Amino acid sequence: MELPFAESYKIKMVETIRRSTREEREEWIKQAKYNLFNLKSDYVFIDLLTDSGTGAMSDKQWAAMMLGDESYAGARSYHNMKDAIKTIMGFDYFLPTHQGRAAENVLFSVLVKEGDVVPGNSHFDTTKGHIEFRRAKAIDCTIDEAFDTTNLHPFKGNIDIKKLEEVYKSHPKEKIPFVVLTLTNNTAGGQPVSMENIKAVAALSKKYGVKVLFDSARFAENAYFIKTREKGYESLTIKQIVLEMYEYADFATMSSKKDAIVNMGGFIGFKDEAVFRQACTYNIMFEGFITYGGMSGRDMNALAQGLDEGTEFDYLETRIKQVAYLGNKLIEYGIPVQQPIGGHAVFVDAKKMLPLVPKEEFIAQTLGVELYLEAGIRGVEIGTLLADRDPVTRENRYPNLELLRLAIPRRTYTNNHMDVIAAALKNVWDRREQMKRGYRILWEAPIMRHFTVELEKIN
Ligand SMILES: *Cc1c(COP(=O)(O)O)cnc(C)c1O
Repeated sequence: MELPFAESYKIKMVETIRRSTREEREEWIKQAKYNLFNLKSDYVFIDLLTDSGTGAMSDKQWAAMMLGDESYAGARSYHNMKDAIKTIMGFDYFLPTHQGRAAENVLFSVLVKEGDVVPGNSHFDTTKGHIEFRRAKAIDCTIDEAFDTTNLHPFKGNIDIKKLEEVYKSHPKEKIPFVVLTLTNNTAGGQPVSMENIKAVAALSKKYGVKVLFDSARFAENAYFIKTREKGYESLTIKQIVLEMYEYADFATMSSKKDAIVNMGGFIGFKDEAVFRQACTYNIMFEGFITYGGMSGRDMNALAQGLDEGTEFDYLETRIKQVAYLGNKLIEYGIPVQQPIGGHAVFVDAKKMLPLVPKEEFIAQTLGVELYLEAGIRGVEIGTLLADRDPVTRENRYPNLELLRLAIPRRTYTNNHMDVIAAALKNVWDRREQMKRGYRILWEAPIMRHFTVELEKIN
């Protein structure tokens, strides 16, 4: 008999979570104005709001915390982090920052100017925000396959080389500070970029004199997909693949809350000493001295250890197989999800799931609230609330896809939890014909409304 798959770790410390009754949840979500961000975490049984900073650290990471050196300058912990980044990604220069968006803020302060264009594969919200804040423009060059939830392309995060070359041809190179490769492509559903595409982007960029930035939040998950899906990489280790990937990067910005498996932290990697030196000034202004940049010594130590663990095959296999386990269960139940299943989350196609709810009534949000009511599970809306209003007309923007994202924290839940999530969604799916109405807005902020919006049920 073939042995089944099991997690590559065992549990040393646990945190109690509490189930609640449907009556309790109805009261709590009403008080939260039907916005899942407004719920106390104690009111949530299984929290899939995000995989950012929500993972479980290992015994070795906690041990490293105790050895943290809190010296202001030149701390041992800083050097541990420097060594880990050099060994794993190959960068000679780096700056610690308090999280990923802070890394963007510091690096873009050096590189991005008004009137610039920054091509990339579905820039992450904060990346786009930091580009647009500087009155530059983000141009999405993701392949078209990424926007079809049923297309089984193995590397849906890829950049379309033709679209990229179009951008390079139509703008002078002085106006293009870099191209961003987001690994994995978060916005397109945690979809990976192939090594072949990384190489093609780097070669084209070199030809046109444009630098390459890796938005690296889930670089290790990306390497796992290269190993398991791309010809020629089967027998390489994750660490070998990661080193090869970073041969093609000039810079990296990292949200360590993802693949470095820490609760807070980030960094910038540089190959270019001159840019590093310029960025040091901004780091000192915005983040902290260049050898701590907003991080405690203990956190830098945990990050160094997390980078090493996060690039081990057994850990990644456990992680990505758990996400796939949930996705496959949903597919088995006939529930419409984005395919192939990505690295960090399962995306439920809310329009197909709740076909009778009108788009003006926030379909994915309606599904998110319903899943919470069903079982105390908290996902996040990737739909009309997130897409916000057109800045000029102030009309709602209706995206093609209304998705409910179920992000799986690292090493945190078991497959029994995945079974509960799948069963809860199945129950909602089975009563989809009865769900005809959604929500209307009572109050919203002028930008980024989804975090704080207040809603009312339409009867
Ligand atoms: C999370 C994330 C960021 C921003 O990082 P924070 O640590 O949340 O500031 C940037 N890019 C991608 C792809 C991310 O997933």
